[in-house]
Amino acid sequence: MARPEKILRLILGDQLNSAHSWFKRPDDLVNYVIMEIRQETDCVTHHIQKVAAFFAAMRAFGDHLRRQGHRVTYLRLDDPGNRQTIRDNVLQIIRSKGITRFEYLLPDEHRLDVQLHELGASLPVPFAADDTEHFLTRRRELKDMFAGKRRFLMESFYRRMRKRFDVLMEGEQPAGGGWNFDIENRRPYDGRIPIPPPLVFENDVSEVVDMIRRSKVKTFGAIEPKQLIWPIDRPQTLKLLAAFIADGLPHFGTYQDAMTVKSWSLFHSRLSFALNIKILHPLEVIAAAVDSWRRNPERVAIQQAEGFVRQVLGWREYMRGVYWALMPGFAGMNFFGHDLPLPDFYWTAETRMACMAAVIGQSLRHAYAHHIQRLMVTGNFALLAGIHPDEVDAWYLGIYIDAIQWVEMPNTRGMSQFADGGMVATKPYVSSANYIRKMSDYCTSCAYDPKARHGEGACPFNSLYWGFYARNRDKFESNPRIRMMYRAWDRMAAAERKRILRQAEIYRRDLNRL
Ligand SMILES: Cc1cc2nc3c(=O)[nH]c(=O)nc-3n(C[C@H](O)[C@H](O)[C@H](O)COP(=O)(O)OP(=O)(O)OC[C@H]3O[C@@H](n4cnc5c(N)ncnc54)[C@H](O)[C@@H]3O)c2cc1C
Ligand code: SF4
Repeated sequence: MARPEKILRLILGDQLNSAHSWFKRPDDLVNYVIMEIRQETDCVTHHIQKVAAFFAAMRAFGDHLRRQGHRVTYLRLDDPGNRQTIRDNVLQIIRSKGITRFEYLLPDEHRLDVQLHELGASLPVPFAADDTEHFLTRRRELKDMFAGKRRFLMESFYRRMRKRFDVLMEGEQPAGGGWNFDIENRRPYDGRIPIPPPLVFENDVSEVVDMIRRSKVKTFGAIEPKQLIWPIDRPQTLKLLAAFIADGLPHFGTYQDAMTVKSWSLFHSRLSFALNIKILHPLEVIAAAVDSWRRNPERVAIQQAEGFVRQVLGWREYMRGVYWALMPGFAGMNFFGHDLPLPDFYWTAETRMACMAAVIGQSLRHAYAHHIQRLMVTGNFALLAGIHPDEVDAWYLGIYIDAIQWVEMPNTRGMSQFADGGMVATKPYVSSANYIRKMSDYCTSCAYDPKARHGEGACPFNSLYWGFYARNRDKFESNPRIRMMYRAWDRMAAAERKRILRQAEIYRRDLNRL
């Protein structure tokens, strides 16, 4: 009689989906392995909260699987037998446990996709890869949908998704009479609605943090080791979802672009970490939001529910499609040929620019900033100043709790830095101080003057903004969405234009002094 197969199944740190069909029933012939490895902690410098939250969630998941009766090998970072790479650990386990078959779940990062495929092909036993059963679209779906097109249009992708998953639909028509309520949304914070205090957890991760420090993993940012605020398991995640539906969703759309020194999270859900490590399924989140609107449209108006659904059903899946459509070339794109290093204040928040100090400061404290802070403050500055996209990518990938390359890169290199030359965005997301002044209260406490374009104390965003457009005129003059801007520039007196450009050059020459 043939010997029964002995299977080794690899679970990566962002594959903590307890509803996956792998885990339907325990099987003594199936061994799961979860590993904390230097290969991953050292690929960029990460925020300490990010490393601690990943390890804490992985450990909680390993314990959960064991409680369900599964066989789990959990390799801690400091285990003497840990060989610190996926390849070496897998080979070691195959040999020591007499494994006859290797299986893994398709990773979301291109680098790991290549690595695992090569590993599988080189093993002495057969291998197979399964789907993670998390995303709503296939990897190559966006590429197929826009084959032959110059641009991936998010709005048409999103409408298809609404129809396909029957979300916020009334028959063939969008619920509430419109696909998009952006005009009613996106207001600055006016203080009319009190901001709910963010639900934070108090996970004691001191042991994990001690281990990370003992192992000399290079990290940055702050942490309270006894009070990690991020959800690390399913019960905590469901509490965070419920808190968001009750307190955040009713005003989500209205204030989704607002920024204020009064709060680091406003009405945002802070669910991205739980979603990205797959503790939470996107359809659960979407269903909770839609259900809340259906039950009580007086409390959750359609524009609030739609604004949120657009993020999860639209942007999140769309960004994943962009990643797989453009990789691996995406990682080297640099449309403007930008080459300046990232200024030091991105790592310290020590700058006189109040908006940058606020956004970087909260990112160092909480490993979190919301979308507009990432896009229109730190991302905007990096693009205007001409920072190399590699440096910008590495910073975003390191600092945010939710940063995994498949979602970080299309947002950073694509949407924010326009390094793809406009596959994602129809025009660069840049602004002068005007936008930040309109959408936040940062400028009121700033050392710089948001109205001045040059001279002592002039807001750097103003001259850098015009400087950016002036040096890229050949790339944008024919773009109908930007042409008006060049007309405004040409109407300015020649002497004024000269002063603005000189100011921009002075600032760009020594960004660290800002
Ligand atoms: C430069 C830049 C870098 C970014 N890097 C990341 C990243 O590494 N990881 C990440 O998850 N998001 C990233 N985003 C998108 C967005 O900023 C975060 O998803 C969001 O701020 C997470 O906070 P939240 O859960 O409170 O989101 P909410 O505002 O409550 O939105 C709900 C959910 O919608 C999804 N979502 C919203 N916008 C986007 C988007 N543009 N792309 C993908 N999903 C979206 C997220 O899953 C989020 O949890 C980035 C955006 C920019 C501009
Ligand atoms: S004045 Fe300029 S630098 Fe200061 S907060 Fe406003 S936009 Fe930022």
